[in-house]
Amino acid sequence: MTHDVMASQEAQLAALVAVYPLADELGARLAERGHELYLVGGTVRDTLLRGPGAQDLDFATSAPPEETEAVLAGLADAVWLTGARFGTVSARKGDAFLEVTTFRSDEYAPGSRHPQVRFGRSIEEDLARRDFTMNAMAVKTPGHRFVDPFGGLADLRDRILRTPIDPRTSFGDDPLRMVRLARFVSALDAHLDEATARAAQQMAGLVEEVSAERVRDELDKLLVGPSVARGIDVLVDTGLADHVLPEVPAMRMERDPAHHHKDVYAHTLAVVEGCPADDRILRLAALLHDIGKPATRRFHPGGKVTFYHHDVVGARMARERLGALRYPKADIDKVCQLVELHLRFHGYADAPWTDAGVRRYVRDAGDDEQLRRLNALTRADVTTANRRKAQRLQSAMDDLEERIERLREREELEAIRPPLDGNEIMEHLGLAPGPKVGEARAMLLEARLEQGPIAPEEARRLLDDWAAENLDFQ
Ligand code: ATP
Ligand code: MG
Repeated sequence: MTHDVMASQEAQLAALVAVYPLADELGARLAERGHELYLVGGTVRDTLLRGPGAQDLDFATSAPPEETEAVLAGLADAVWLTGARFGTVSARKGDAFLEVTTFRSDEYAPGSRHPQVRFGRSIEEDLARRDFTMNAMAVKTPGHRFVDPFGGLADLRDRILRTPIDPRTSFGDDPLRMVRLARFVSALDAHLDEATARAAQQMAGLVEEVSAERVRDELDKLLVGPSVARGIDVLVDTGLADHVLPEVPAMRMERDPAHHHKDVYAHTLAVVEGCPADDRILRLAALLHDIGKPATRRFHPGGKVTFYHHDVVGARMARERLGALRYPKADIDKVCQLVELHLRFHGYADAPWTDAGVRRYVRDAGDDEQLRRLNALTRADVTTANRRKAQRLQSAMDDLEERIERLREREELEAIRPPLDGNEIMEHLGLAPGPKVGEARAMLLEARLEQGPIAPEEARRLLDDWAAENLDFQ
């Protein structure tokens, strides 16, 4: 996927960047006011890797935010000043999103949770305070002069993550950069420069100073990378995970003497990688699906090892951790539901369920998207080295998915609800609102799950039978 441009560098880079005419236009207008503009960061990196086509255009400029804003106002469709405090003016023009940031200098207030910024004087000074050399390249627009003071192009070619300045200084200035290290390992299959890795190991504890939201955003990007297992390994090996995600390194348990079960951590990495990369929620659930295991492990006489209820315990632990990382409640609910249901399929291969069992499975998954995730997680969870066993489980899952499809065609599984609603139940039984109505409704829902679709007359007969047992008529 590496583009040819990596070989002949500047001339081709200039040609590539010329396809961002918007960048040149903005640069020309700023130049009229005596200011410089450069494409920087992720835009330059991704253009070199994949060719042009980025929709996010990151810029650095000598202009102060007010001037940038004035120029953008005459050029873009919409302008935002939400980042102005940090020197960033954002804009949209057609499908392109622009972020234009005034040159920064490398001064920080140590120990602050959010990095403090001061404006810098030159592009070189600005690049020096960026996270990694591969993110510290710039292209002047217009003119397309390539600025690469720290050897970022070579590091990008070799996929090496290295800080432009001494890594201890860089990570001290903004400890989030250590988490970004793991994120780019996952996203770009990159490797750590030795001094950079050592500094991260020594300084991992500083990540506690970083706000949970910033860590979460990097974790989300790490999770959808193609080399996600290596990215998680970096978090764990450096010790960063002990601070931001301690449940994950805790899965590196010693094997039991009889080697009856695999190392839970190694298994987890395989499951995460086995889940499609485009689904952040699913990958997060995969990462956390077995975190209940260390706390529930029991050794039994004869060498048997069990992890009873690790699904329920794990879901509870996941809720707590994701809350601490400030995930939105909707994300937390989805992930925890998957963790809690990840064993639901067990036993199906030996004794396929009745239709009622299949309906319950679909209902418990909640909606189609969660059902698809649950099935994908269940499949990825099969990491046994025993080929025959793996094949048998995958076939059983094929079978379940086919049955869900068939049932769906027959009876609108999405809309499993009792055949009569609360009003109809009250009317038929002559009941006033109250707990008995809920009980009757639950009985009808149970019957619906057991039998499939139920006609209204049949539902009324069921209500009569139920009433004879459960209601006292005066
Ligand atoms: P992507 O947008 O694909 O996630 P990116 O490299 O553009 O990747 P952003 O978070 O958008 O990442 O940041 C844009 C640029 O700003 C980076 O390429 C880097 O040069 C710089 N940068 C971002 N975060 C930091 C940081 N914490 N410390 C130093 N420089 C940073
Ligand atoms: Mg970006």
